[in-house]
Amino acid sequence: MSETNELQAVSQPTTTSAIAAKGYAAMKVAENLQPFSFSRRSPRPHDVLVDILYCGVCHSDLHFVRNDWGMSLYPLVPGHEIVGRVSAIGDHVTKFKTGDLVGIGCMVDSCRECENCKQGIEQYCLNMPTFTYSMPERHGDGITYGGYSNKITCDEDFVLKVSDKLPLEKVAPLLCAGITTYSPLRHWKVEAGDKVGVAGLGGLGHMAIKFAASFGAEVTVLSTSPSKEADAKKLGAHKFVLTTDQEQLNTANNFDFILDTVSAPHDYNLYLGMLKTDGTMTCVGLPPAPAQVPIFTLAFQRRRLSASAIGGIAETQEMLDYCADNNITSDVEVIDIKDINRAYERMERSDVKYRFVIDMATI
Ligand code: NAP
Ligand code: ZN
Ligand code: ZN
Repeated sequence: MSETNELQAVSQPTTTSAIAAKGYAAMKVAENLQPFSFSRRSPRPHDVLVDILYCGVCHSDLHFVRNDWGMSLYPLVPGHEIVGRVSAIGDHVTKFKTGDLVGIGCMVDSCRECENCKQGIEQYCLNMPTFTYSMPERHGDGITYGGYSNKITCDEDFVLKVSDKLPLEKVAPLLCAGITTYSPLRHWKVEAGDKVGVAGLGGLGHMAIKFAASFGAEVTVLSTSPSKEADAKKLGAHKFVLTTDQEQLNTANNFDFILDTVSAPHDYNLYLGMLKTDGTMTCVGLPPAPAQVPIFTLAFQRRRLSASAIGGIAETQEMLDYCADNNITSDVEVIDIKDINRAYERMERSDVKYRFVIDMATI
């Protein structure tokens, strides 16, 4: 689409101090993404303005575009795996200066006052965190627009420091896929010698393998894609089980911990039955349909089923620092933003190796 045909934002009032931005948006539910012009707020005293360099493509972006979770607001500019460089700061900003490399993940604000915010688990803000896109702005009009765009304004408390030691395009997916897998592995204290299963080898799954293996666990990938076996091993997995093959399934048991990253409706019983006594399965995959949970499978081995959402800001910084220290990054396929709709089609077919990342220079 040519520049002149670009659609204009209707829901975001422009003020004289607003900054012109361009991005890609779904204008209506399930529509293809298309070029979209809108505005970002000029930095307030505690804001930083970021020139976006790369943005990862998360399966949640696709769930949102399709309104799978019934909470989407349009025009919808997805993207919450943002890496960029600070181009301006507000008068009271203390943590960042112009030129700094930074990251922004799934949240851009929270209430800051509730028990959970005070404990640094802003993702569980009792007054709802403000997600990076498709949510009403916490202070001001309009809705939040995500990282499939050239610029973003964000309060410094929700901005992360990014090391210059690692390739930036491979760092971007850490802001969601990284923290979403790191946080439950830490919370449930996965450590050396544990037997860990990772269900689903996509964006989250491949980061789960890397983290669990680096914590010293024995990692088994539970996948529906026979073509991913060699990659699973290269990523650090010790074993690969094709879950559509009964013989292979029989060898998958006695796990201390399973991380379920599957994006589509599936049978939870299959994985729960693989846990040892007192084992835990944490779901981070968020299929649109409710889960059918077999309590018998849990009760008779005192197994636990839990779920987890991203991670807090402090833990996200801890994870980024851990990755910089241990040379952990995402395996990415860098794309032109014009190819985003094709990337979604491939993601739907589980054909991602293992995260698409948009090069924002192509916008
Ligand atoms: P992804 O890259 O598309 O990977 C999902 C993987 O799930 C696929 O590669 C495939 O792996 C497996 N899969 C797909 N359909 C399946 C089916 N019908 N049965 C069994 N396995 C299937 O997606 P992602 O970006 O990693 O995200 C995964 C899920 O996590 C999404 O639902 C996303 O919204 C959610 N998410 C949650 C959080 C959170 O905070 N909780 C954060 C980010 C994302 P195989 O080919 O190996 O089978
Ligand atoms: Zn995500
Ligand atoms: Zn709060």
